[in-house]
Amino acid sequence: MERKVSDTLLLRRIGRYVLPFRNQLMMSIISLLVTAATNLAGPYVLKIAIDTYITSQDFTGLANIMLAYIAINIVNFLTSHRQLYLMSGIGQRLIYKFREEMFSRLQRLSLKFYSQNVSGSIVSRVTNDVDSLQELLTSGILTVISDIVTIAGIFMIMAWMSLQLTLVSMIIAPMLLTLIYIFQKKARSAYLATKQKMAGVTAKLAESIMGMRVIQSFTRESDQQQAFGQVNIENLQANLVAARLFAVFPAGVEVISAVGTCAVLWYGGLQTALGAITIGTIVAFMSYLTMFFRPLLTLSIFYTNFQSAMAGAERMFELIDAPIDIADKDDAAELERARGEISLENTSFGYDPRYLVLNDINLKIAPNETVAIVGPTGAGKSTLINLVCRFYDPTSGSIKVDGYDLRDVKLESLHKQIGLVLQEPFLFAGSVRENIAYSCLEASEDEIVKAAKAVGAHDFIERLPASYDTIIREGATNLSIGQRQLISFARALLADPRILIMDEATSSVDPYTELLIRHALENLLKNRTALIIAHRLSTVRNADRIIVLDQGRIVEEGTHDQLIARKGLYARLYQMQFREAEATPTQKVS
Ligand code: ADP
Repeated sequence: MERKVSDTLLLRRIGRYVLPFRNQLMMSIISLLVTAATNLAGPYVLKIAIDTYITSQDFTGLANIMLAYIAINIVNFLTSHRQLYLMSGIGQRLIYKFREEMFSRLQRLSLKFYSQNVSGSIVSRVTNDVDSLQELLTSGILTVISDIVTIAGIFMIMAWMSLQLTLVSMIIAPMLLTLIYIFQKKARSAYLATKQKMAGVTAKLAESIMGMRVIQSFTRESDQQQAFGQVNIENLQANLVAARLFAVFPAGVEVISAVGTCAVLWYGGLQTALGAITIGTIVAFMSYLTMFFRPLLTLSIFYTNFQSAMAGAERMFELIDAPIDIADKDDAAELERARGEISLENTSFGYDPRYLVLNDINLKIAPNETVAIVGPTGAGKSTLINLVCRFYDPTSGSIKVDGYDLRDVKLESLHKQIGLVLQEPFLFAGSVRENIAYSCLEASEDEIVKAAKAVGAHDFIERLPASYDTIIREGATNLSIGQRQLISFARALLADPRILIMDEATSSVDPYTELLIRHALENLLKNRTALIIAHRLSTVRNADRIIVLDQGRIVEEGTHDQLIARKGLYARLYQMQFREAEATPTQKVS
């Protein structure tokens, strides 16, 4: 657990979040002090009852003091639950605020962040790390104050009642301190191990869920099971070690406390004969001794909890502070309804700036032009469309829409002009209608149906069990791949963007759906600028222009016929990929 930020800085920052709750916090601290005082008063009242009233057989006095005893306990009940409730309230509200800030930051972080952080670790920050902080905030810190007050109070009262007996009862101190020392050390490593192993379980789980299709298709379920079993059992073992420790310690304390009780009874008993110590004092001492141990136990593990919470807080703030590398400039312009001209001027880009993935690209796309990008895998096709959507900024050179540099316009106004259709359309859990209207929440029923009709999705949607109200499950597993594509087309059409950017799907669909998709695409491309990573022969044929990318450079451009005549890379790609499709027009190419 390497830490970069000091505890003081973290606490100060958490403190700023607590500030709005200062009144509740004050109330909570006052309640806590009253609770501690009433706790401390209990045994002393017993001593008075025994020494003053029982020995003198003053039963009226005894009844009164018992009433006082009950009153003290009622106050204790009221303040202790008030204190717990107030503190939990503050803690929970802080946690709510933290999670909200983390989520809102996640919405704004660029794809760079997501390609550098695995989702399991992001999820773990928002859940586990915040949880460990929650423990500290809701009970930890105030418990420590109360523990310290209690221990100090017990000492003072005991010393005030009988210094001798206090010294005698402290013969257990060396044993106790040794036990705490050993426990503290072991508990720390056991506790950290449980946290670490739990993070392992979360990460493995997230990976498996996301990769389930691949796992199942390669029948690697049993390996996954085994790998999960491994982290799961490590987590179990870590928790068992911790559980044993947490079970042994209190039991050990009991034994030591018995020794202490015996010492007090023995020495106190002898002293009563001399009249130096009263029976009430012995009873009160024994009570105080038992009250002494619980705070010691919590104090001894506090530091470990505190460290773990601070580590969690650090990771949490790291996410809240994660730099937003793609952000609007202060004077960013609003991109009005675009004409749809895109130009890349000497654009170079590398995910790591030392290794360029796109190299000096110059490309001008006229409004309403359809440009297909082809090229071997890894040529930089997806990277190019990522740049045009401004998911990343170019390392050098510029990208412009209607003459506006993308870095000078408001990101939201840019994204309103761009419709993005991914290779694997992502549908959200919700109805078909909601998924189509995702791009345009105010769309009327008519507009939704019209869009679905235009892309040829209406017919199959009508046949779904609840038509447009059919609920799409997470991952859209209840729809075929072709159906998912058509819905994503309808979504894009409804948004009616000036610029359509598309990564054509490579998955094969049946000939009928293929035909539907081809028609849908024609409708979708009408009257807008389009940049498509093409995998279909029909797409490249119908494109106004084809750009051939190879190793991050544009190596050829022209129409299908021109490029075939050139007998260059495109002609070779065509030979390898597209020819076969020409023989059977419905087949997909890639
Ligand atoms: P294509 O779409 O033509 O197959 P890509 O644009 O996906 O090619 O990838 C181009 C190059 O950039 C590849 O070498 C790939 O390894 C690299 N690359 C793609 N995405 C990332 C990323 N998020 N981080 C680092 N490198 C990446």
